[in-house]
Amino acid sequence: MSVRPLAESGDPVLRRKAKKVRDFGPALQELVDDMVETMRVAPGLGLAAPQIGVSLRVAVIELPEEEEEEESEDRHRGKLYVICKPEIVKNWGRQEGEEGCLSVPLYVGEVTRAERVVVKAQDRHGKPFRIRGDGLMARVLQHELDHLDGKLFLDRVESLDKLYRIEPSEDEETEEDRPII
Ligand code: ZN
Repeated sequence: MSVRPLAESGDPVLRRKAKKVRDFGPALQELVDDMVETMRVAPGLGLAAPQIGVSLRVAVIELPEEEEEEESEDRHRGKLYVICKPEIVKNWGRQEGEEGCLSVPLYVGEVTRAERVVVKAQDRHGKPFRIRGDGLMARVLQHELDHLDGKLFLDRVESLDKLYRIEPSEDEETEEDRPII
């Protein structure tokens, strides 16, 4: 596994509609391993292949486990998801909140997303499965799927006054309120 360099806003690969995965062989396995490592080192809650310059419909997601004192019913925490060719099959409700992106360093914006989504995808070996995500997980899923269609959260921020520059030192404690995806 190796950490790959991140594509940043302005790189055309982030604006392309990514290609479908057709081959679940060793090259894909290596890509997925590198994506997981790159996401963990960054760190981010998710990473889509175009963010490391590969125009393929693959993303990885891993929400950190809750601190012990915090109660959470989020069954997605601590679990690693590899989603190939993901599609949203259902969505409900609305959530308002801030989010940022590893490809848009030092900015977060207010982005309205669906509160809950069902996504169908294939795992790293091509086996189909579904995920139902609420709240933060739903936000991360929608953010990653946008990457595969060449969209950034910047496109979904309503106006420039809903886009904020953050100080690098603020990053650590704001994972919940300002998830970097
Ligand atoms: Zn992102």
